[in-house]
Amino acid sequence: MKVPVDLLIVNVGQLLTLAGPNEWPRTGSSLRELGLIRDGAIAAADGVIVAAGPAASVLDEVVLAPDGARLDAGGNVVLPGFVDPHTHLIHAGSRADEFVLRLGGATYQQIAERGGGIVSTMRATREASEDDLVALGRMRLDRMLAHGTTTVEAKSGYGLALDDELKMLRAIHRLTAAHEVDVIPTFLGAHALPPEHRGDPDAYVRRVVEEMIPAVVDEDLAEFCDVFCEAGAFTPDQSRTVLTAGAEAGLEPKIHADELSDLGGARLAAEVGAVSADHLLYASDEGLSAMAATGTMAVLLPGTALFLGLPYARARRMIELGVAIALATDFNPGTSPTYSMPMVIALGCIGMRLDPAEAIAAATINAAHAIRVAEEVGSLEVGKAADAVILDLTDYRELPMAFGTNPVRTVIKRGRVVG
Ligand SMILES: [Zn+2]
Repeated sequence: MKVPVDLLIVNVGQLLTLAGPNEWPRTGSSLRELGLIRDGAIAAADGVIVAAGPAASVLDEVVLAPDGARLDAGGNVVLPGFVDPHTHLIHAGSRADEFVLRLGGATYQQIAERGGGIVSTMRATREASEDDLVALGRMRLDRMLAHGTTTVEAKSGYGLALDDELKMLRAIHRLTAAHEVDVIPTFLGAHALPPEHRGDPDAYVRRVVEEMIPAVVDEDLAEFCDVFCEAGAFTPDQSRTVLTAGAEAGLEPKIHADELSDLGGARLAAEVGAVSADHLLYASDEGLSAMAATGTMAVLLPGTALFLGLPYARARRMIELGVAIALATDFNPGTSPTYSMPMVIALGCIGMRLDPAEAIAAATINAAHAIRVAEEVGSLEVGKAADAVILDLTDYRELPMAFGTNPVRTVIKRGRVVG
């Protein structure tokens, strides 16, 4: 007897299932394995995939319920909804002034020293109400969804004081309950030193450890604890203190590492058993090898390199060394204001010489691993969520060629057409 389903996607020219041994993030040559099926189909019931494979076998297995939805992909590419594993979704204010200053030659660190950068966004975010932040977040999630993102990570880190950090995380929780996009929360209290702690970073680190982490865990507001380990932000020792305290309280470590200089952030990520180290523009071979040995993922943010005019992270070297890579937007108001994972895939190929297949795996299944949601999303396999994107393209290799435009035609979240 055929299984009744409520969603059937047919006439899929290239179905990228990303099926495979997905218990661990993809490394090396497995990053290129897209599980490509020509003339494919997908069927789902109650938001969960029931069948995905060659059209003939899927249509043998299932029958569409009378009120079900039948989508014709028009011979185009269908792939898993994008997972964006590093964003600063929640913030208020604009950084247009400093963008213009940077065009005039000021560096990111010079701007930060003058009270711009993260601290300027902090001021605007402290002034905003939780409702304001939810409204801004909703508008941004709509735009991300339109570009094919169906799961996103979002960090705090523009409050930099207990109540404002909690306000940001509560806004994230309200959004994930109210919006089609799933939002995974990360506590980033150690994002920058707030002005009231100027000259005494250790006192602020104590606040993060003794006040903020317990309060965040008490309200169950975050999955991960992140820190910005950089000259002008937090030293490796301070970062270790924060990440260790977070881990002891049940928040898995993540780290902004080696973005503007090599401070040994990659090595620290491996040492504390971080799920990922992010940025890594200046990471050393030694640091990357340590990450490969401990299975710490590299979340690469080529939008930031483009926007700051910095060299791209050495993705090819990471793959060679056996590091598992993922791609993310780093969406934020100062250094990467893009909503678009297709644009990030394009930059991954053009700037970091990823093969289109590698970039797609890094933006789906590996991105899901980087925020611990790979059991549910990131590939189109039986039992997983029916989160899928229909592109306006018939060949997946054209995805990075569409940079600056939106190649996403239809977005499906848990079996429903949402964009
Ligand atoms: Zn970031």
